[in-house]
Amino acid sequence: MFNLKGKVAIVTGGNGGIGLAIASGLAEAGAVIAIIGRDAGKNSAACERLTAAGETAISFVADVTNEASVESAIDEISTAFGKIDILVNNAGSNDRKLPQDYTLAEWNTLLSANLTSAFIVSQAVYPAMSRSKSGKIINIGSMLSIFGNARAAPYAAAKGGIVQLTKSLAQAWAPDGINVNALLPGWIETELTKVARKQLPNLDEQVKIRTPQGRWGRPEDLAGAAVFLASRASDFVTGITLPVDGGYSSNT
Ligand code: NDP
Repeated sequence: MFNLKGKVAIVTGGNGGIGLAIASGLAEAGAVIAIIGRDAGKNSAACERLTAAGETAISFVADVTNEASVESAIDEISTAFGKIDILVNNAGSNDRKLPQDYTLAEWNTLLSANLTSAFIVSQAVYPAMSRSKSGKIINIGSMLSIFGNARAAPYAAAKGGIVQLTKSLAQAWAPDGINVNALLPGWIETELTKVARKQLPNLDEQVKIRTPQGRWGRPEDLAGAAVFLASRASDFVTGITLPVDGGYSSNT
């Protein structure tokens, strides 16, 4: 039921952090992995790590905020593998400041990186998935898909938008056999949150207190839920947002 043998999975931002852990989980379940990221060196290192573990992974350099760059990567992936079964829209970034301090250009950059990117890549894989009448798209949201944050207005607006994009794509593409769901990670130890820990005093303590399981998440904590949403096990699940957060969002 969870076997992904023969499936082709694209993971954006799959060259590190949560993306690489999800890529490893999908590969372990049998999928062939296409990693999309901007940094060719990080992409190659991630692919080497997966191939050293006996998996199949190929790197594609693209900026997910650039439509032409995405289209050419998706064309290359379709040519290399002949089909696309799974897409994980994981790439994202943040820049923490108070709302009054963002320039419009910074706002637009964060909306592009965290929301428009998922739309661009989903639209790009739609022809291949609809042709085969099957596909699984997994969008990565955040606790800020649910909550607000004084120092992350554009990121929170984008991650909130991910939930509505997920539901809307799920409605539109169900007749095409495409399931679209979102994972909402809690606080996970990655490069992204290394910066947050430096910027936000007491963050470490606050995360541990608020998270009922009493710890930060690890990137690999996301892998099981991703395998579920990518596999036959979730064929009747679409349009949902699943927190993977050690209980953070269920706490007051
Ligand atoms: P990292 O900073 O470790 O990884 C981000 C990844 O996104 C990198 O692989 C980066 O690759 C890629 N990326 C960023 N911008 C682009 C772009 N324009 N085009 C292509 N790739 C891009 O972060 P995390 O692993 O922590 O985050 C992964 C996802 O999880 C993000 O969407 C984040 O918002 C979300 N998330 C993370 C949480 C956490 O606590 N860590 C909590 C909630 C959500 P490259 O450098 O090559 O461009």
